[in-house]
Amino acid sequence: MSRSDDWYQTPQGEPRGFIESRKLEEVWFHTGTACNLACPFCLEGSKPGDNRLQQIRLADVEPFIHEALTLGAQQFSFTGGEPFVNKDFVRILATALSYRPCLVLTNATTPLIKRLHQLAPLLKQSYSLHFRVSLDHFDEVQHDAGRGQGMFKLALEGMRHLYGMGFTVSIAHQAITNCDAAVVTNRFQEVLTAHGLPGDLHRIEFPEFHSPASQVNVPVITPHCMNTYQTEQTRQHFMCAFSRMVVKQAERMRVYACTLVDDDPDYALADTLTDSLAIPVSLKHHRCYSCFRYGASCSEYRSPASVTVP
Ligand code: SF4
Repeated sequence: MSRSDDWYQTPQGEPRGFIESRKLEEVWFHTGTACNLACPFCLEGSKPGDNRLQQIRLADVEPFIHEALTLGAQQFSFTGGEPFVNKDFVRILATALSYRPCLVLTNATTPLIKRLHQLAPLLKQSYSLHFRVSLDHFDEVQHDAGRGQGMFKLALEGMRHLYGMGFTVSIAHQAITNCDAAVVTNRFQEVLTAHGLPGDLHRIEFPEFHSPASQVNVPVITPHCMNTYQTEQTRQHFMCAFSRMVVKQAERMRVYACTLVDDDPDYALADTLTDSLAIPVSLKHHRCYSCFRYGASCSEYRSPASVTVP
């Protein structure tokens, strides 16, 4: 697949920094950008009926699961949109769980709650299923301002059901920068315990990723940056070093470099996982700077390594 000149060079004509993939450990599937909610800050631009990325079907996914297993993948992860809007999703999940542990990113509201009865049998599958729920804020009003009235309580209800059934759960939100970190921790703990959940659930904070196709000015990343501010070890914690994301776009399955760059066709690396691993991933997307600067990662398979950048 051909790529723009921009993939290789900065506007100043310097080569771009890149990541080489040593092995495939985690494969993400994008279930489609359709969602029951229409949050204005969604990094995927997801909303009801959206099909920028189409809903995947079991038949779309199965060949990639088998290819991933031959390449040594250790985990399958799913993001959307809201995965439970996808009618095939529980069947897809059941298939994936017969081979590897799975992670599902969900808003835990109505689409999930309506299908809880279908999830119970998954507890008997060979591998474990973990849910990461978006809880934007410890404050109900702030959360509902983006997601819609009643969504805070519904998300906590969904989480409580999942936890009560025996699934493991974590939460994710964008960094709350106008509040002391200890206060944020305490307030989330209070909310979780008040809703029958452990206060110390794993919590992941993300930087601002901006909506799809946003033009964001960030510093360029060159090979010099990657050698000066990163090490061999920290480079291996970039998602594109050990994972890939499979999406359905215009009726075609494609392998993207990671979960954060599906709005740029240069990052549609190949039609197969095997071919995608041969391509060094250029750090030209503005979200690459979040990985470089803050260690941002959607993965729970590997924790981001800490880096020191002036
Ligand atoms: S956003 Fe991060 S993980 Fe994705 S391609 Fe850029 S550096 Fe790699």
